[in-house]
Amino acid sequence: MSRSSPAPATATADAAGPAPSLSPTGDPWLLTPGPLTTSPSVKQAMLHDYGSRDLDFIEVNHRMRERLLAIVHGGAEHVCVPLQGSGTFVVEAMLGNFVPRDGKLLILVNGAYGRRMAKICDYYGRAYAMQETPEDVPADPEALDRALAADAAITHVAVVHCETTSGILNPLPAVAEVAARHGRGLLIDAMSAFGALPLDAREVRFDAVVASSNKCLEGSPGMGFCIARRAALQAAKGNSPSLSLDLHDQWVAMEGNGQWRFTPPTHCILAFDRALDEFEAEGGVAGRGGRYRENCRILVEGMRRLGFQTLLPDELQAPVIVTFHTPADPRFVFETFYDRLRRRGFVIYPGKLTVAESFRIGCIGRLGAEQMRAALRAVEATLAEMSVKTCAPAAV
Ligand SMILES: *Cc1c(COP(=O)(O)O)cnc(C)c1O
Repeated sequence: MSRSSPAPATATADAAGPAPSLSPTGDPWLLTPGPLTTSPSVKQAMLHDYGSRDLDFIEVNHRMRERLLAIVHGGAEHVCVPLQGSGTFVVEAMLGNFVPRDGKLLILVNGAYGRRMAKICDYYGRAYAMQETPEDVPADPEALDRALAADAAITHVAVVHCETTSGILNPLPAVAEVAARHGRGLLIDAMSAFGALPLDAREVRFDAVVASSNKCLEGSPGMGFCIARRAALQAAKGNSPSLSLDLHDQWVAMEGNGQWRFTPPTHCILAFDRALDEFEAEGGVAGRGGRYRENCRILVEGMRRLGFQTLLPDELQAPVIVTFHTPADPRFVFETFYDRLRRRGFVIYPGKLTVAESFRIGCIGRLGAEQMRAALRAVEATLAEMSVKTCAPAAV
């Protein structure tokens, strides 16, 4: 399939250059943390208009909430509340709902998404403390243990499962164990991990976990969801400083008539329903995570063969997005590298680190070994074009 209007990827390719590698719909492959490449059938599923009261549509919503709960083995004591907006909307909703006005949040920070939670607390005037580790160091459960013992005012702990800033995996089960032992609520931003990394509600006690439609679940962007302990959500009634982000209100309304309070992102939900079919067909978390791990392995091995160095040792790396040090060779200019890869059909991502010059390549979304190998060939050709001789970083 090719599309009628030329994609920018082809429009800017020089006539003599190689044909770019493009997705089945003629788009470049998104090797980014999101939005991500979706399958043709997920995009196709959006070609319908539904009224929000349509019984078929209400059934789709019901099914979606049940399936999301099942992914974390949530039982009768858990509920799923979807919410319009990007991932940050539902992170903000989680903090505003679950941390009471007189509560205090301890945020485990090792990247931009942890810091964003602090910013949300600033906006909401919620008391918080941060426990920070460097971007290449996981959250520290022992330090958390000491912090909770030292400060009885802390009511909740917030953690990012995979900190997408670097791609680091935080030790969720250990953090959850410490929070539970101290009787504090745990709030999890699992945005870039949900569906690819195991999270079992029977083993990890949390008040709430949030994620979105368009990361590892491979739907279109446009909605997030919160999986909450029913009792914790019930206790959150009246906490939200925001009407549109009031998860308790959204939940009560949805339990009542099966409908969203405000205009639902109908096309996004239809796409998500289809994406969940494909997720289940792939074997759920084990299958999806397995494909991403293979993508990640091919990427890391191939980039190391070209001389690049990863920020993280393999044991801290989540199979989601990989941070590479920028080569010290002055002929390596990220903007040029980016543009030329884009022309070859691959979109990568700038670094977001404060500790080192870097860039990132994602391995999630509707892509597999074939695309990862093609991306490596594109990287190699681009380096040759740029006359980059060595990809070793400045001393790290
Ligand atoms: C992507 C992401 C978010 C939300 O980002 P949006 O751009 O608002 O969708 C939040 N936390 C993490 C860890 C993420 O990876």
